Amino acid sequence: MNRPASPDPVVIIGAGLTGVSCALGLLEARIPVILLDDREYAGGQLSEIPSKIINFAGSHYRDGKEASFRLLEALNLAAQDAKRDEITLEYRRGVKVKKISLRQENENRFELQTASTLVSCQTLVVATGYRENRLELEHGAEYLHYHGGLENKENSEQTAVVIGGGDSAFLHTLDIADLCSKVYIVARSEKLKARPDLVERISKRANVEILKGLVPESVKMSAAGQLLVTFSNKDGASEKVHLHADRIFAKVGYKPNTEILQGLVDISPDGHVMVEPDFCLRQKGKRIENFYAGGDIVSGELARMAISVGHGMSIASAIIRKRFGFEY
Ligand SMILES: Cc1cc2nc3c(=O)[nH]c(=O)nc-3n(C[C@H](O)[C@H](O)[C@H](O)COP(=O)(O)OP(=O)(O)OC[C@H]3O[C@@H](n4cnc5c(N)ncnc54)[C@H](O)[C@@H]3O)c2cc1C
Repeated sequence: MNRPASPDPVVIIGAGLTGVSCALGLLEARIPVILLDDREYAGGQLSEIPSKIINFAGSHYRDGKEASFRLLEALNLAAQDAKRDEITLEYRRGVKVKKISLRQENENRFELQTASTLVSCQTLVVATGYRENRLELEHGAEYLHYHGGLENKENSEQTAVVIGGGDSAFLHTLDIADLCSKVYIVARSEKLKARPDLVERISKRANVEILKGLVPESVKMSAAGQLLVTFSNKDGASEKVHLHADRIFAKVGYKPNTEILQGLVDISPDGHVMVEPDFCLRQKGKRIENFYAGGDIVSGELARMAISVGHGMSIASAIIRKRFGFEY
C-alpha cells in the first residue's frame, strides 16, 4: 500500500446521499474530507420525501426525515471512527459554493468560492443533486407547496390540487389520494409526461380527477380561508377554470444544480453532467483528473437513493485508487 503521510482532504460539495456515501467511503480508507452543503441539515432531497421509502435495499423508512436522520448518524459514526486515527471530517453546513475555478499551473488545483472563504483542493467531488422547478404565477405563488404531505385525519374531508403532469405530480397524488376526499391533477399539456404505470394507477383512484391543457394563472385566499386557483385554457378558449382547494401542490419537475459547473465541464442540453465510467468529469470529451460528479446530476441516470449511494461509493473507490495510488 502506497499511502501518503498526510493526504490533502478531498472536498465534496453536497451532503445528500451521494456526497455522504462518498465521504463514508473515503473516511473508511482514512482519507480526510471537507463536506460542504448549503443546507443546515444533511440528506439533501431526502428531507423532502413525505412518504414511506420502500425501494432502498436493506432499509425502509417511514419518510425522508427518518432517512436523513439515519444518514447523519452514519456520518457521525464514521467521523468518530476515523478520528481515532487522526483523520478528520470537516462538515461545513450552510455553505453555498458560488464558483469553482480550475488552476492548471503545475498540478491541477480547484478553488471554490463561498460567500466568505476560498477553499482550495486537489480532489473535488460535486454531488449537488436536484432542486424543484418553481411555478411562475401572476398572484398567489406564496400559497403553493413544493414538498411536504398531508396529515392523516385532519385532511380526510379536504380537497387538494396538484399542478403538473409528470412523474412527480402523479407520485405525489398517489401519496395524498388516500388522505383527502378529492384530488385534482392539473396538467399543462394534453399529453401526460408521467410514466404509463403511474397514470394507470391514478386512473383507478375514484377520488382523483385529471384535467389537461390548463395553465395555472393565480391563487387567491377567500375570507373563509379556502383557496381558489384559476387556470387559463391552453387552446386559447376564453373561459377560465376555477378550482377550490384546501391545499395546492406544485409538482412541475426537478432540475439539476449544475450552474457552478457551466463552462468548466461537458453538460447535456438538459443540464446534467457527462461523466466517464469512473465518474470523472470531462471537458470537450477530455478527462479532468481528480474532478468527479455523482448522483442525480449525472446524465442518463435514474434519480434514486440506491443509485446515489452507489455513485458516492464508486467515486470514493476511484479516488482511493487513482489519486492516492493504492487499492482498498
Ligand atoms: C419528493 C421526493 C421523493 C423521492 N422518493 C424517492 C424514493 O422513494 N426512493 C428513491 O430511491 N428515491 C426517491 N427520491 C430521489 C432521491 O431522494 C434522490 O435521487 C437522492 O436523494 C439524490 O441524492 P443526491 O445526493 O444526488 O442529491 P441531493 O439529495 O439533492 O443532495 C445535494 C445536496 O447538495 C446541496 N447543494 C446544491 N448546490 C450546492 C452548492 N452550490 N453549494 C453547496 N451545496 C449545494 C443541496 O442543497 C443538497 O443538500 C425522491 C426525491 C424526492 C424529491
